[in-house]
Amino acid sequence: MSQAVQLAKINIYGAVQGVGFRPFIYRLAQQYNLKGCVSNTSQGVSILVEGSVETLREFITAVRLKKPERAVIFSMNYYFVQPAGYKDFEIITSESEGVKSAWILPDIATCHLCIEEIFDPTDRRYLYPFTNCTHCGPRYTIVESLPYDRPNTTMKKFVMCPACRVEYENPNNRRFHAQPNACPECGPVLQFYNSVGSLKQDRHNALLAAVSAIRKGHIVAVKGLGGFHLFVDAGNRDAVARLRARKNREQKPFALLFPDIRCVESVCTISNVERQWLISPEAPIVLLHRRHGKSSNDATICSEVAPFNPWLGVMLPYTPLHHIMLRLLDKPVVATSANLSDEPICYQNENTLERMKGIADCYLMHNRPIARHVDDSILRVVKNRELVLRRARGFAPLPVATDVKLTPSLAVGGHLKNTVCLAQDKFVFISQHIGDLETESSMAVFKNVTDDLIRLYQINPQSIFTDLHPDYESTKYAQRMYTGSFGVQHHYAHILSCMAENEIAPPVLGIAWDGTGYGPDGTVWGGEFLEINANGYRRIGHLLPFLLPGGEKAVKEPRRSAAGVLYRIFGRDCADTAEFQKLFPQKQAGVILKMLQRRINSPVTTSAGRLFDAVSALSGIQTINYYEGQAAMRMEYLAESSESDNTSYDFNIGENNLIVDWKYMIQQILEDVRSNDLHYVSKRFHETMSAIIVRVAERVGVEKVVMSGGCFQNRLLLERTITLLEKAGFMPVWHQRVPPNDGGICLGQIMAPVYGGIK
Ligand code: ZN
Ligand code: ZN
Ligand code: FE
Repeated sequence: MSQAVQLAKINIYGAVQGVGFRPFIYRLAQQYNLKGCVSNTSQGVSILVEGSVETLREFITAVRLKKPERAVIFSMNYYFVQPAGYKDFEIITSESEGVKSAWILPDIATCHLCIEEIFDPTDRRYLYPFTNCTHCGPRYTIVESLPYDRPNTTMKKFVMCPACRVEYENPNNRRFHAQPNACPECGPVLQFYNSVGSLKQDRHNALLAAVSAIRKGHIVAVKGLGGFHLFVDAGNRDAVARLRARKNREQKPFALLFPDIRCVESVCTISNVERQWLISPEAPIVLLHRRHGKSSNDATICSEVAPFNPWLGVMLPYTPLHHIMLRLLDKPVVATSANLSDEPICYQNENTLERMKGIADCYLMHNRPIARHVDDSILRVVKNRELVLRRARGFAPLPVATDVKLTPSLAVGGHLKNTVCLAQDKFVFISQHIGDLETESSMAVFKNVTDDLIRLYQINPQSIFTDLHPDYESTKYAQRMYTGSFGVQHHYAHILSCMAENEIAPPVLGIAWDGTGYGPDGTVWGGEFLEINANGYRRIGHLLPFLLPGGEKAVKEPRRSAAGVLYRIFGRDCADTAEFQKLFPQKQAGVILKMLQRRINSPVTTSAGRLFDAVSALSGIQTINYYEGQAAMRMEYLAESSESDNTSYDFNIGENNLIVDWKYMIQQILEDVRSNDLHYVSKRFHETMSAIIVRVAERVGVEKVVMSGGCFQNRLLLERTITLLEKAGFMPVWHQRVPPNDGGICLGQIMAPVYGGIK
């Protein structure tokens, strides 16, 4: 990353007032020669510091490590924005602003002190899987209502024993007012059930039974913090294949839980930032690159875990239960959400026994209820900065602070990877990841989460925002429940979301590239160039449109996008090309051609995601997707291991408009595929897509270029475009705390009134 100066905004939540925290921050800032200020807030402390990103990261680590002894940090969030030009570092004494209502804090990974206790044979919490303290443990997943006190949590049925009570009441104890405080005497306990739901073991024996089942290659449903996982031995090919078959999940990568960081290092390469996230209190799944060339790795992580994929989704234990299990196992396990594909994650005991019947071989449960589902968060590091791909455990429901005052409002998000959010004052509270609203059960969860968020925060929404798409279940729900909801165009919402989290004001050029979004002109948008100013957005350009034979079916079958692209180039002659004939069996080829010619169920699209699909299919990389986005991902992976130079294909941009004609690029790709390897072709294609963005930016001439939409989960595309934009003198803006995919849409929707243009 460039050494350019950035402003880090750090919010610390916890007991940090009256313990010498602000003077500590002042001294630390002096030590690192950083400028800015520190002030108290109603929730803790807010720090603004300016310096190089490297130094800022060191500073943030030092805050955690060197904090005054009596200070308790519940949670610490930070993000980077453009510098404000501070001249020195100040302590600001009073802050009158700030919401007085209590915020709900996320669940925090087990702290090192608790880990020491659970592995100390002389400690009363030795091997106790529900150990926690004020520094760590469950919060959002146990709170039922506010204020956050034990009777308002799922711990209410456990009466503290005298020893726990003493800790809880002593202000000098690490467990002073730790609401889920518990021990083997008084707290939750484990139970082990067999495949038909008969209780077989309890307490530590239950844990031992689960561990031995995993060793034998069984699929074990394990109740965690925000839901159940399915655990299997990651080195056991048969077991992982069985899990795939039972979950009906052919190739989508599984996440992994590793025993410790050293074990991760033996399998993956880890940068400093990736390491910090792995061991962070948020403990997300971090996408890490597998080490090259050692087939011996296969003994630890078999290829079935992530077929055709050089990246692994890796996390470290974040509850005492995980720590104890993984230490006994001493090897990584697959830890995938316990659900059927597209269904929400299981989190209730009875319900899990029912839904996981035929999938799990046995169950490790406990009697502490989970108040609401919270999935594992996922992030990857791009340009040395985090890019959150799924925002849930560890982050939700902390707000994103904006620099404007918002009216109390609700935004219900999109259709895929749905999240919802509530705004009040300067804060937007974004829900945990809900998922695709494809099934009745996911709609039920969507409604629960929405009601739950409103109830917990006691915000009475005055305005309601939805996607413009009239058929999205989220839109229909909002229209049923509230009168006068506002529809916000999908790609406009993407760009607004990225602007909001980066605190960027218009004018900007928005590059909104994704799979699908409702266009007000009745076409499927997804390769859009939007100019955003103080009055809203204008669609100033897009990729050349093509037809999608079969509409929605094209998402699962990249070869349909390929057919549409060929039809755009060759018209009806496309059916005579070798490429077209390779994509479909003869009978189907005729049907597809007819659909294209007569425009039967073949919507017009400008989608960049579908263009990625088309190129992937035309190159023979992936003609059918086994999971969302697979075709594009495989191209990204091929391209990143290419050794070739950065040369792009040719493309044209209209002289009087900003319509990007990719026809010549496709023709060059068809030639290249015959004579060159797919790494090379993929790399050149990526380079072309980046070059397109830069060329459009040059034509438009707006300094701030904001990139959002699912395509920007692609690290290669994003990093290369950032580099090229910076070289050309632009200021690239991309996501960090909020996903570029549709998980970020709700934030953009709720920001729409700020920049006008609500429809
Ligand atoms: Zn702790
Ligand atoms: Zn106790
Ligand atoms: Fe989208």
